[in-house]
Amino acid sequence: MREFLKIIEKDFGIVKIDKEVSSVFEAAKILREHPKETVLLENIGESDIPVLSGICNTRDKIARALNTSVGGITHKIIHGMENPRPLQNIEKITENYQTSKADLSKLPILTHYQRDGGPYITAGVIFARDPETGSRNASIHRMLVLDDNHLTVRIVPRHLYTYNQRAEAQGEDLDIAIAIGMNPATLLATTTSIPITSDEMEVANSFHNGNMKVVECENSNLEVPDAEIILEGKLLAGERADEGPFVDLTDTYDVIRQEPVIELDKMHLKENALYHSILPAGFEHRLLQGLPQEPRVYQAVQNTVPTVQNVVLTEGGCCWLHAAVSIKKQTQGDGKNVMMAALAAHPSLKHVVVVDEDIDIFDPEDLEYAMATRVKGDDDLLIVPKARGSSLDPAALPDGTTTKVGVDATKPLDKKEKFERVSLSE
Ligand code: MN
Repeated sequence: MREFLKIIEKDFGIVKIDKEVSSVFEAAKILREHPKETVLLENIGESDIPVLSGICNTRDKIARALNTSVGGITHKIIHGMENPRPLQNIEKITENYQTSKADLSKLPILTHYQRDGGPYITAGVIFARDPETGSRNASIHRMLVLDDNHLTVRIVPRHLYTYNQRAEAQGEDLDIAIAIGMNPATLLATTTSIPITSDEMEVANSFHNGNMKVVECENSNLEVPDAEIILEGKLLAGERADEGPFVDLTDTYDVIRQEPVIELDKMHLKENALYHSILPAGFEHRLLQGLPQEPRVYQAVQNTVPTVQNVVLTEGGCCWLHAAVSIKKQTQGDGKNVMMAALAAHPSLKHVVVVDEDIDIFDPEDLEYAMATRVKGDDDLLIVPKARGSSLDPAALPDGTTTKVGVDATKPLDKKEKFERVSLSE
């Protein structure tokens, strides 16, 4: 992460705050005042470790980490998922870290908002192996601090959930490692929706052209990416505790649930370690969760309309509820087929707008221009009531359904010249 931080400092700048701030509310308030900047809080009242946030809170920074352009991010993620690379650059954890007994009170774990359940680790990636097959998983999870060496962790029913169920069925704890503070490309790989038999670290290694450095844990046969802070411990079989409330993507509260409990054993810190914190509902949170859905939407649309150009889950739509898709329209009705494919590909998607290739879908004003000039409400809307929606959508019905809307903002093929943009064509 240090190398990427130098790139950020040079190309984007870092807001450095040296006055003492508290990890309770005060730090989060400052991060909220700088939604698109990288912020270093150098002096946290409750800890000797500085807080870093916003290393991937814009598409420009993520594009930089992936060595591509903003328009190339989706294609780069697809390439990484399709071309995983085995880990080769493996070191012992002892070489560059100071090891001690795990003590969460030493870390500047932020309490973000008034009604939060407590201090939350928000940029922690959990590494584990399938107790049955030995295959590896890496996934990012929010973790609520219970005491100096216990956390409760929100685990949605995906791969880590399955591993934990398999361990619990054998009456065994599940060995895990938690890494905090890594390169955004590595972090992004841990949020991709690849099959349970695939390995997120090999996708990350593909993003790093096969050179990604990983370290071997002391307590288990887990390899984790080179990170600022590495914690080792286990998910305790059968243990559950209250998790929540926590502010989710939509800037609204998620409920309290009974979730698994982690017991920590060791803590490894890099020299002058930095603690990466992701502000809940901030752009870093939205982009890391939403961006990996864009390839899914892209590939589903491509099956239907091969001239798809690009897909974005817009920041204003929480990178979750709104999509824009650009196509090279070739037959009348393409727009409607795109809508159906996009809405089916990402079940949480609520609204989708389809535009021609002359619209920059990463520019909200250009998207509005397309909707203002190329939409006729009685012809160009698709409304699907009572479809399954997002649990994060405050407007969803109690049964979890919502109304999906598609907007076809493409030019009619038979009147193309009427819609020609002078600024682009002359
Ligand atoms: Mn996985």
